[in-house]
Amino acid sequence: MALLSQAVRRIKPSPTIAMTTRAAEMKAAGRDVIGLAAGEPDFDTPDHIKEAAIAAIRRGETKYTPVHGTKALREAICAKFRRENGIAYTSDEIAVCGGGKQVLFNAILATVDPGDEVLIPAPYWVSYPDIVMLAGGAPIAMPTTAEMGFKIGPVQLQRAITPRTKWLILNSPANPTGAAYTRDELAGLAKVLLRNPKVWVMVDDIYEHLTYDGFQFASLAQVEPALKSRTLTINGVSKAYSMTGWRVGYAGGPIDLIKAMANVQSQSTTHTSSISQAAAVAALNGPMEFLTGWRKSFAERRDFVVDRLNAIPGLTCKKPQGAFYVYPSCQGAIGKKTQQGKTIANDSDFVTYLLEAEGVAVVQGAAFGVEPYFRISYATSMKALEEACARIARVCAALK
Ligand code: PMP
Ligand code: GLU
Repeated sequence: MALLSQAVRRIKPSPTIAMTTRAAEMKAAGRDVIGLAAGEPDFDTPDHIKEAAIAAIRRGETKYTPVHGTKALREAICAKFRRENGIAYTSDEIAVCGGGKQVLFNAILATVDPGDEVLIPAPYWVSYPDIVMLAGGAPIAMPTTAEMGFKIGPVQLQRAITPRTKWLILNSPANPTGAAYTRDELAGLAKVLLRNPKVWVMVDDIYEHLTYDGFQFASLAQVEPALKSRTLTINGVSKAYSMTGWRVGYAGGPIDLIKAMANVQSQSTTHTSSISQAAAVAALNGPMEFLTGWRKSFAERRDFVVDRLNAIPGLTCKKPQGAFYVYPSCQGAIGKKTQQGKTIANDSDFVTYLLEAEGVAVVQGAAFGVEPYFRISYATSMKALEEACARIARVCAALK
């Protein structure tokens, strides 16, 4: 279409959102669909956070705020970084945006020129490469395998760096694999980054609080403070506090970068909702005991899904350390035929068949850059997971 810009023609709609929407539409049309595509916790936002939002409305906090959020919120974020990550940011080194997604968007738009390269370990969250492409940059995928734990190492990182490398995006625990980097693994990557002073790092810690089996989370600028001056430490309330709909994400980083991100945002959304900001203050300053129960529940679901998937001929699945996703391989299903005689040529065919034959919505590995896999979000009830696994087993057994 002549109307559309070159920039928008380079990108596609978010495949995770597309699959979630498709499942919701099928459900609305009366089909029996189990949605395992959405990347959001199924728990409700805790009551003390909702009450804080209601109180903010009653107090009349319904007007514009500063671009990067109220003083109360930026101070709560500084306190969070200090308390939980041992990283000291001042309140003018804090960005507050409409979700972690907008943090990434603003940072990339503010820094990436055509031709600049952004290193992205794959499998990656679907939005990283598209935001880079929107800015005209070149996303450089760094493929990993299940055998590598879906993690990059120092040698692979050093090899991928070129004079055009502007950023490395590091996400731990990761979407879509749940893989998480240990402190030692981060230290190994940090050594390479110290040798390459022109490379900046976007650290996406949004799944920080969702780790299992005693895994100790660490953030890059905490492990190697010398990298703080070129690290953007990204986080948000979506996952840890089950606040996806409130749209609050934030980051700490060098002041010039934070100011440039504020420029971008001041010309687009201005700021995220004043009410959501008040809720985020309550989230960050409030109790976190509820997370113990959430983690226990997520770990049980993860264990159940991994065991069930590994018992299905054709599928293999690693047990990840964090987030609420698993990323099984469907290699054993590739090349087989459905009862209707259609060949399953790749993971997109597999997930389409799964949705059409049995009404289970998952997301194809192609969307995350490493095939043939698919992503299951286990942030749903055990009952739904039991039924979904039974259906996936049925679909795999029917392939010849
Ligand atoms: N980073 C990762 C890795 C994610 O999975 C998501 C969630 N969907 C985000 C960032 C952004 O989430 P939000 O915009 O809701 O803060
Ligand atoms: N990030 C989540 C996911 O991976 C939510 C959807 C999106 O923002 O793309 O499903």
